[in-house]
Amino acid sequence: MAGADAALLDCDVEEPNGHLFMAPGLERSIPVHARFPQIDEEKCIHCGKCSRFCQFNALLITKKTNIVMSELCHDCGGCALVCPVDAVTYGEREVGQAGRFERSDGLLFMDGVINTGEFSAEKVIERVLEEGKDRAYRIIDSPPGCACSAVAAAEGADFALVVTEPTPFALSDMKMVVEMLEKLAVPAAVFINKAGENEEDLLAYCAEKNLPVMGKMPFSREYGKILVEGKLIARESDEGRALFEDLWSRIRQGRAG
Ligand code: SF4
Ligand code: SF4
Repeated sequence: MAGADAALLDCDVEEPNGHLFMAPGLERSIPVHARFPQIDEEKCIHCGKCSRFCQFNALLITKKTNIVMSELCHDCGGCALVCPVDAVTYGEREVGQAGRFERSDGLLFMDGVINTGEFSAEKVIERVLEEGKDRAYRIIDSPPGCACSAVAAAEGADFALVVTEPTPFALSDMKMVVEMLEKLAVPAAVFINKAGENEEDLLAYCAEKNLPVMGKMPFSREYGKILVEGKLIARESDEGRALFEDLWSRIRQGRAG
């Protein structure tokens, strides 16, 4: 919203909400597919190698039967590789939809949503991340936490802004996210939401980890009201606009607060 040549990619595909603020007319008309294994009963010797290989418990092999739980499959392709008799082929199913929206101010908005009952969000996230490569900046709204979907969104990013709150629960979550980002070698900084009180433990952790605090959003009834009305703080409040412009400038310059 600061006028950058940017794409905003909402990868929080279990519950995307960016469109409520940035693309109210969004239509999710792009289907996203994932593969899932199909086992040829004629060829299968029930050795169980595919089941033991699968990290997601998507395959149940007994002496007499095979059960494929396609919703649990993450489409890694490994079960076909380990099968000694080439009994595994892959079918395809629709796992979600993506939507693309070009705003009149030039900002590209893209998001995706996974179908109810699907566990694997990576394919939808990968589809969303295909967009916006022609823009100077791609801003990715990652799923929360550090599960496979968060890894898929954060992997390869130039920089991550970890948004947290000054509560013990949020700090515990944040520590796992910071560990994930360290493993992915993504440089990170912190933004404190609902700031104002009880920040000591959070600030001590940031200092210990050398994590710059790039900004703080005060716990404000006014901001809450703006969001509930589906409006943008950066548009409705002078103070809020200054806060986001400062944050954006710090991110671009890689400066700490
Ligand atoms: S493709 Fe990968 S995730 Fe899917 S069932 Fe096979 S081993 Fe499991
Ligand atoms: S690895 Fe191949 S042969 Fe062995 S149980 Fe799986 S599908 Fe059957």
